[in-house]
Amino acid sequence: MLTKNQATQTAREALHLLTERGLSPTPENYSSIYNELSGGALRPSWTAEKTIATERKLDSDRELINLILTLISTATESTSTLAQNLGIQNKSIATSVNALEQTEEKQEILSLLHIISATAHSIQRSVEDTGVELASTKNALDTMRKELQQAREQMVLDPLTGARNRFGMEITLNQEISRVRRSHTSLTLAMLDLDHFKHLNDTHGHDAGDQVLLYFTLLSKSVLRESDVLFRYGGEEFLVLLPDTELNGAIFMLERLQQMLQKSPLSYHQKKISVTFSAGIAGLRDLDNGASLIQRADRALYNAKTLGRNRVEIDTSMAPLE
Ligand code: GH3
Ligand code: MG
Ligand code: MG
Repeated sequence: MLTKNQATQTAREALHLLTERGLSPTPENYSSIYNELSGGALRPSWTAEKTIATERKLDSDRELINLILTLISTATESTSTLAQNLGIQNKSIATSVNALEQTEEKQEILSLLHIISATAHSIQRSVEDTGVELASTKNALDTMRKELQQAREQMVLDPLTGARNRFGMEITLNQEISRVRRSHTSLTLAMLDLDHFKHLNDTHGHDAGDQVLLYFTLLSKSVLRESDVLFRYGGEEFLVLLPDTELNGAIFMLERLQQMLQKSPLSYHQKKISVTFSAGIAGLRDLDNGASLIQRADRALYNAKTLGRNRVEIDTSMAPLE
């Protein structure tokens, strides 16, 4: 483990080497040079595998954040060293100028002018060196900021379907409920579950099952309005959040999706794979929070399953007054 000072020094040398070798300041380049210098203090985890495990992903995000902190501390140190150098050199020039005003002696004037010129040159070099270092730091920070932004976006997405995941759902659902409370509009939640999906996997294979999940997501998105949001809630379960939509609007949307699935089964290796879903819907009521809204949609979904599947049910027990 490097100390903070060693880490800062290594980070600075890594930035110099990046610039010297003409490499762009990507996190991959930066961390590989940093490792070269520090003897592997940073584990290389930028390897761009498509399906990176969540744990490794979080580790790599933490490393990225640590790198950014190190870079900021390098930049802080560069600027404070520059300020210190400038202070010393400023004093040296002031002393020489003062002495210059008090002497008529040619030789002394000459050597004072020499000191002033050398100090000015040294100031210029300090400023230039710091400028180069800060420019490299800025580039590296820029690149890492973009990486973090991407990491943030990916955290709320399901890697298989590209729909938002459960974590993203919790954030969006709470935001939407707060918005509805302020604007006194309506919000409907639908919970969808693909029917007999285990059987579909057993019959056509797990990969076919995966393709059906992706196909279902794409088809759903094509039916949804821009403001509606689809989430993969778990295995073959999805949630659709429909802002400014009454129950009838949600039923209409789900029936359209049922018709589309029926009309256009997925083509998979010269086979047509059909799938249906059951759905439960609930409209947000005054006393609801995110958890109770989901619970009510889930209860309606349960009814849809027990009543024979491939159907849409409303949570009647606590349905909003029409
Ligand atoms: P029901 O109509 O009652 O919902 O029956 P079901 O078979 O759909 O429900 P069950 O809960 O018994 O099985 C769900 C299946 O979904 C089992 C599981 O292997 C499968 N599954 C969950 N996630 C995935 C996935 O990411 N890919 C694939 N291919 N299958 C998945
Ligand atoms: Mg299920
Ligand atoms: Mg199911």
